[in-house]
Parts: sequence; structure tokens; C-alpha cells
Amino acid sequence: KSTDIPPASWAERVITVVMLITALGRAVLIGQFSMSMREILYKRGKELKATYERIEEMAQLDELTGALNRRFVMKELDDELLRAVRHGKSCSVALIDLDWFKKINDTFGHPAGDEALRTFAITIFANIRGIDKFGRYGGEEFLLILPDTPQGTAMRTLDRLRDIVSGLDWAAISPNMTVTLSAGITSIRTNDTTDTVLSRADRALYRAKEGGRNRVQA
Ligand code: GH3
Ligand code: MG
Ligand code: MG
Repeated sequence: KSTDIPPASWAERVITVVMLITALGRAVLIGQFSMSMREILYKRGKELKATYERIEEMAQLDELTGALNRRFVMKELDDELLRAVRHGKSCSVALIDLDWFKKINDTFGHPAGDEALRTFAITIFANIRGIDKFGRYGGEEFLLILPDTPQGTAMRTLDRLRDIVSGLDWAAISPNMTVTLSAGITSIRTNDTTDTVLSRADRALYRAKEGGRNRVQA
């Protein structure tokens, strides 16, 4: 019948086989190409990641708040500690933690929480001296280093900051929002290391939280 596939001639068979082999070859080549592409992209990705990490390392500022980043503020603490001990000068350190911040995020949303962190940092910067060092220690925890400052003065400074922060118009970020801070304060002693200073500040902060928050403790 006319609809039947006509029997292939010898030449047609050869052409079909050759085309089949060419198609197969091409598929294998494309496969190999995509595999090597994937490998290249994977390596590039890893290189990029390492580069970003390097940039972060060189950067001194926390992206969200503009405060010193953790790495840098720790270095500053180390430097100030050595300087204070070497020159027999006073230096105080405050560990500041925003109160009920998880609840603030839950109530007003994470972007509003971010905005609160930025506003908090700007407020601190506006109310400290040029020689003070202010850095983000962790999520909603900050470190304030006060060179040439005895503990009593640091207590008064931090209580003033606490008062300013609690009195800000937080409702401008989100209706009904309020933000307060708790701070643990300590002064550098002769045999201190960054670890001993931070652990004293942390214990004082814990007492400030236990004592009811929105307060400063030495
Ligand atoms: P406390 O008064 O005891 O400090 O209570 P808290 O809720 O502040 O303490 P907790 O450590 O349980 O929670 C800290 C919260 O801070 C949890 C986390 O989601 C939030 N947080 C940390 N970093 C960021 C940030 O960069 N942006 C926002 N929006 N929230 C953050
Ligand atoms: Mg907190
Ligand atoms: Mg905390």
C-alpha cells in the first residue's frame, strides 16, 4: 500500500546509522560540556564565597547598624585593655542588650526590629564621645568601651543612655512600639583579659535583666 514505509535502500540505511552515531556523539559532548561547566561554576562559587569572607574580614562596620562589627570591637577591647593597664588609666566596658527583643520582632515584624536596631545605634552614636568605641557584639547585644572612664562615671553615662533610649518616640517606627535596654558594666583591672572583662560585664547584665530590665548594673 502507499502508506507503508518504503523499504530502505542500502545507502539510506548507511545514512540513518551515520546520523544516529552523530546524534549520540553530540549528546555525549553536550553532557561532558555541561559537566565541566558545572564544575567551573562550582569552583567560581567557592572562590566568590572566600572573597566575600575576606571582604567581611577587612570591613570594620556592621552592615545593619553601622556600629563596629564584632571582630573589630573585640580588637578595640583588646587594644584599650592593654593601653589602660600599661598607662595605669581607667577604662570601663558596658555590655548592652535590648530588652524583650524577640517579642518586639514577633509583635511588629522583623523589618521593624531591624529599624529599631538602626535607630538604637544612631542614638548611641549621637550621645557618646569620639574616643568611645561602640560595636555590635551579637544580634541585639552591643559593646560600649569607655576609655579614661572610672566605673561610677560609666554607670552615670549608661544610665543617661538608657534614659534617652527609653524616652525615644519608638511609635514612629510602629504604633505602640517601645524599646528599652539593660546594661552590665565593669571596669578594667590589672590582670584582666578580654574574657574576664566580658564575663564580668555579662554577669552584671544578667543581674540587670533579673532586676527587671530597663536598668544598668555594675
Ligand atoms: P531579653 O530581655 O532577656 O534580652 O529578651 P530578648 O527577647 O531580647 O532575648 P533573646 O536573646 O531571647 O532574643 C533576642 C532576639 O533578638 C531574637 C532575635 O530574633 C532578635 N534579633 C537578633 N538579631 C536581630 C536582627 O538583626 N534583626 C532583628 N529584627 N532581630 C534580631
Ligand atoms: Mg535581649
Ligand atoms: Mg541578647
